[in-house]
Amino acid sequence: MVKICCIGAGYVGGPTMAVIAVKCPAIEVVVVDISKPRIDAWNSDKLPIYEPGLDEVVKACRGRNLFFSTDVEKHVAEADIIFVSVNTPTKTRGLGAGKAADLTYWESAARMIADVSKSDKIVVEKSTVPVKTAEAIEKILTHNSKGINYQILSNPEFLAEGTAIEDLFKPDRVLIGGRETPEGRKAVQALKEVYAHWVPEENIITTNLWSAELSKLAANAFLAQRISSVNAMSALCEATGANVSEVSYAIGKDSRIGPKFLNASVGFGGSCFQKDILNLVYICECNGLPEVANYWKQVIKINDYQKSRFVNRVVSSMFNTVSGKKVAILGFAFKKDTGDTRETPAIDVCKGLLGDKAHVSIYDPEVTEDQIQRDLAMNKFDWDAYEATKGAHAVCILTEWNQFKELDYQKIFDNMQKPAFVFDGRNVVDAEKLREIGFIVYSIGKPLDG
Ligand code: NAD
Repeated sequence: MVKICCIGAGYVGGPTMAVIAVKCPAIEVVVVDISKPRIDAWNSDKLPIYEPGLDEVVKACRGRNLFFSTDVEKHVAEADIIFVSVNTPTKTRGLGAGKAADLTYWESAARMIADVSKSDKIVVEKSTVPVKTAEAIEKILTHNSKGINYQILSNPEFLAEGTAIEDLFKPDRVLIGGRETPEGRKAVQALKEVYAHWVPEENIITTNLWSAELSKLAANAFLAQRISSVNAMSALCEATGANVSEVSYAIGKDSRIGPKFLNASVGFGGSCFQKDILNLVYICECNGLPEVANYWKQVIKINDYQKSRFVNRVVSSMFNTVSGKKVAILGFAFKKDTGDTRETPAIDVCKGLLGDKAHVSIYDPEVTEDQIQRDLAMNKFDWDAYEATKGAHAVCILTEWNQFKELDYQKIFDNMQKPAFVFDGRNVVDAEKLREIGFIVYSIGKPLDG
């Protein structure tokens, strides 16, 4: 029986391994983590992350061929294939601070693998890492390899939070990069055989190591760039009377552009886009390509501009001050169908409003009070949208949860201060209907008069 161990039981390691386990009953999959609370949660009825469909997948194979453990060294030593899915945040100190990826967790995982291994291993980069990381990992693993053969593969993960299970069941592509040596090709083949249990062969792409590593950064940079492009257009739409939804529809009909990922918003968030672009910027700078670095930096600048533009719109619409006014925030997660608040635009929007002395009240169906406390050092969290909006001067919609379309806005209006404002940062509500009720509505990228 092939044994897989995954180091890191996070948003990627957990769902990815659960899908491998459910699709490959003859493979034993153990997900390990240094965080005991996280592993305890994976072994409980309340999983540590919210993803549609995840509970069912985990329940189908946990205890059969899927296990979660804190016994990291034991399971790494026993595995044939080791996925490393640890966090790779942006460095906060020292060389490259604010841009480069912090590979501390990766390096300590690699050193531990080298220490405990007694048999040949395939080590798979699942985390998003800078191009050429495999070279460094190889050095760490083979420095004192005691005759053990290590093959490093790059197998970046393209899942999107909120649709992780769907994406893993039906990936657009699986990318595997390896060394172009006989051993390297053998390792690529072994990993291909795992995915071949459910992914059609034509969707499994194999490349050299550096192409695979760089493709993940490139994919996230392109996706974020698309959001910044449409958000830049949204500002111009507001200035000219064009409607960003109509513009997106019109340009998306061009088959070269395509309709996806063209929704204007208050900005992108999540743990990956910004950090991966910063990482790309750093790599460009290190490789003597400042013009290319500047090009990608602009994607983040527009994103920051979009968030501050939104806050400014709220404050200026409310007679230039929100001091002492209650502003209800509907949606705090960085997108719908996840409880993840890492780098969510809601943090910056709330900080902007709090900076102007607003009383902020937050509701999100999947975000907990603890998260709000950690992200904003405040605890004004409500368990219901009606409670959050009661007595408010304004409502800001910051996450596109479907349930925000279905709210009883007449009831909300009746319980708010007047004039009652709605600032829709995701274009989820029917602005015309809300105007009929009596709201003053700002929808991102739409003409202000409707
Ligand atoms: P995460 O923070 O949710 O999970 C990482 C886990 O690794 C944590 O639970 C941590 O305790 C554990 N860990 C760290 N060092 C360890 C060690 N030495 N031994 C055992 N466990 C250790 O992170 P995530 O969101 O799952 O992301 C992981 C990687 O995948 C990152 O590189 C990220 O960029 C990439 N990625 C993330 C997404 C996403 O949507 N979140 C998508 C694609 C790729």
